[in-house]
Amino acid sequence: MALVQENHTLDLSPESSPKTTPSLHEILEKQRTAFRLAGAPDLAHRLASLEKIQRILIDHKDAWAKAISEDFGNRSRHETLMAEIFTSVTSVKHCRKHLAKWMRPKKAPIAMQFKPGRGKIFYQALGVVGIIAPWNYPLQLAIIPVAQALAAGNRVMLKPSELTPRTSELLKQTFADNFSEDEVAVITGGPDIGATFSTLPFDHLFYTGSTNVGRLVMQAAARNLTPVTLELGGKSPVVVGEDCNIDKAIGSITGGKLLNAGQTCVAPDYAFVPAAKLDTFVKAFETTAAKLYPTLAGNEQYTSIVADRHYQRIRGLLDDAKAKGAKILEFNPKNEDLAAQRKIAPTLVLDATEDMKIMHEEIFGPVMPVLTYKTEDEAVEYINAHPRPLALYYFGDNAEARDNVLARTTSGGACVNETLFHVAQEELPFGGVGPSGSGAYHGLTGFKTFSHEKSVFYQSRINGVWMFRPPYGRLFNMVIKTLIGK
Ligand code: NAD
Repeated sequence: MALVQENHTLDLSPESSPKTTPSLHEILEKQRTAFRLAGAPDLAHRLASLEKIQRILIDHKDAWAKAISEDFGNRSRHETLMAEIFTSVTSVKHCRKHLAKWMRPKKAPIAMQFKPGRGKIFYQALGVVGIIAPWNYPLQLAIIPVAQALAAGNRVMLKPSELTPRTSELLKQTFADNFSEDEVAVITGGPDIGATFSTLPFDHLFYTGSTNVGRLVMQAAARNLTPVTLELGGKSPVVVGEDCNIDKAIGSITGGKLLNAGQTCVAPDYAFVPAAKLDTFVKAFETTAAKLYPTLAGNEQYTSIVADRHYQRIRGLLDDAKAKGAKILEFNPKNEDLAAQRKIAPTLVLDATEDMKIMHEEIFGPVMPVLTYKTEDEAVEYINAHPRPLALYYFGDNAEARDNVLARTTSGGACVNETLFHVAQEELPFGGVGPSGSGAYHGLTGFKTFSHEKSVFYQSRINGVWMFRPPYGRLFNMVIKTLIGK
C-alpha cells in the first residue's frame, strides 16, 4: 500500500521495512520467545519487579544525581532528587499499592436482551514493549514507562537518549544487574539506533520526545501496525486572568519556567497577561527569578542547557526575535558571564510577533515571551489558532473566566493557579492531544496503556439468541420491532 503525502510517496507495506541490525532483532526475539513460553508474570513477580525498580532509584540516588549533572554540564541535585527520584518512586509505590486491584478482571454491564449472559474485561499483557526516552528528565521519563509496562506484565526494550550518555549507561548497568535481558534490555545509541529501534515489530511502542521525531516514529510503527503512544512537546501557554493577583501567581509561573532551566516538556512556554498589568508582571518575574537564583554562573541550583546545539538554538531564537523588533529582557542579577557553563539567564521577550521563530518553536529554555490582551477571549483565540499544546495554565479566581478558558481551549492537561503539578498526580492521565501527543500514562491509565483490554461475553445456558437466527419470520419481526422501538 502506498500513501501519497506532500510530494513524496510513503510506502507502508510491511515487506518494505528497512533491515534492522541483527542484535536488536535477536533481543526482541529472545524477549518474545520468553513471553510465549512463560506467559505473563503473576502478581507476585510483577510486584517483585517494581520493588527492584524502586531499589534501582533509591539505592543509586547519588549516582543518578551525579550522572545527570555531568550530562547536563550542571543539573541541580535538588531538582534531580525531586523531579526524577521522588516522582518516579511515588509512581512505582502507587503502582505497587494498586496493582492487584488493576489486574483483577472487571465485570461489564450487559444489556437486558442479552441477560442472563455476563460480560467481563480482562487486562492482558501485550508482550514486548519498546520505549524511547528523551534527555530532559532522562531517568523519570525512562523508568516510569518501564515500571508501568512491567506492572502490566510485559517485557521491555528501552532506548534512552544519546544526549545524556552517563545516565543512559547507568540505566543499562542497573537494569542489567537486576533483570535478565529477556525481561528488560537497555539499548544505547543515537538517532540512527532510535530509527532502527522504531522499525521493530513491538507489541506497543511508547515514545517521548519532540513532535518532529514523533512523526517518524509513528510512520515506522505503522509498517508493523504497532500501536504507539506519543508523548510529545509543544508551546504550553500561561493565561494570567484579568482578576489575577500577580504577586500570588508569579512564584508558580517563574518556578515552573526555570525548573531544569526551562527544559521541561510541560514548562510554561509563553504567557498572556492583561495589557494593563504587563509592567507589574515583568517586575514581579524579575524579583522572583532573582530570589530563586540570586546568582547564576556558579549556582549549582541553576541548571545548564544540555548541549551546545540546544544552547545555540535558544540563543538563535532570541537573536531572531531581537532582529525582528522584540525587546529582550535578560535578568542576570550579578551580570555574570554564563556562556562557559552553557547557562542562559531567565529572560522575558516583549513585543513578540507572529513572524518570529520564538512564537512557533517550542522554546525549551529559561526564556518566556509575554503577550498582552485586552479581553481574555483574545488569548483564547490565539491559543486556538495554534497547535494544541501539552499543557495550559490559568491563573485567576474568577470561576466564570477560568471555566471559559478551560472549556474553549484543548490541551493535553491543565492546571489552575499552578504550573506543572498536574503531572505529579498519579491518577490524572498524562498525555498530549494531536501535535502534543496521543495516548497517556501514569496510574491506572498507564497500566491500561500497556495492557490489552480483552472483552469476554459469557453466554448463559438459557438464552433468547436463537430468535435472531434465520429463517426470519413473524416472531423475529415482532422482537426486532420491540427492540428498535417502532
Ligand atoms: P528527540 O525527539 O530529539 O529524542 C527523543 C528520543 O528519540 C531520543 O532517545 C533519540 O535518540 C530518539 N530519536 C531520535 N531520532 C529518532 C528517530 N528518527 N527515530 C526514533 N527515535 C529517534 O527529543 P529530545 O530532544 O530528546 O526531547 C525534547 C522533546 O521531547 C521536547 O519537544 C519535549 O517537549 C518533548 N518531551 C515530551 C515529554 C512528554 O511527556 N510529553 C516529556 C519530555 C520531553
